[in-house]
Amino acid sequence: MTALVEARKLCAGYQGVPVVRDLDLTVEPGEVVALLGPNGAGKTTTLLTLAGELRPISGDLLVDGEPSKAPLHKRAGGGLGFVPEERSIFMSQTTAENLRVGRCDVDRVLELFPELKPKLKTTAGLLSGGEQQMLSLGRALARGPRLLLADELSLGLAPLVVARLLAAVRAAADTGVGALLVEQHVRKVLEVADRVYVLRRGVVDFAGTATEAKARLSELEGSYLSG
Ligand code: ATP
Repeated sequence: MTALVEARKLCAGYQGVPVVRDLDLTVEPGEVVALLGPNGAGKTTTLLTLAGELRPISGDLLVDGEPSKAPLHKRAGGGLGFVPEERSIFMSQTTAENLRVGRCDVDRVLELFPELKPKLKTTAGLLSGGEQQMLSLGRALARGPRLLLADELSLGLAPLVVARLLAAVRAAADTGVGALLVEQHVRKVLEVADRVYVLRRGVVDFAGTATEAKARLSELEGSYLSG
């Protein structure tokens, strides 16, 4: 199967200084891949580079098997859903307005997250953190992406909400979407992930199936993971 996105010996960073080195990573259709690691390991840098927001320093970045240098905004139409760490919603607009601006299928978002229905006329800034994140993720998923990249979806949210968000990602993957999730909630994300990469100081320290990661959970957590 052709990977939706593939990094080969990718070096990524800022102003020519690598933060992530020699990264080999793939995301295929239908799988949830977790990208874990301690603060500062280079997870966000990886995600931004895969999204085309940051230009790779060296190595190859393939999108659908083809070399890609197109920035994110040019790829959005090409099936990329990106949920950045900063919630990408308009806080002064209502939920409904956010969905209209997002040009997404409103019914689909409400199907995913019915809890947003009574909040359609509420200003997004007044929604709870969980509702805001449902709006962010709902917008990204309702546009029908083939690849979803999400940075710390669950940051600061209650466990029940985290479970809802991750379940929505799993359900999308079960329809063929490939997802790469940067997560702090290691145990929760391992419940929905198929494969796992752990980054440490910019290099892959562990790559394997979620089952393998679970078997080494205490070791992985104890050495450097939080969550
Ligand atoms: P966190 O969980 O803290 O977000 P992370 O694994 O996502 O960590 P990154 O945000 O990718 O890590 O940061 C990796 C390194 O890159 C850090 O040392 C950080 O200081 C550096 N860095 C991040 N953004 C920039 C930037 N815009 N310019 C220069 N260095 C940066």
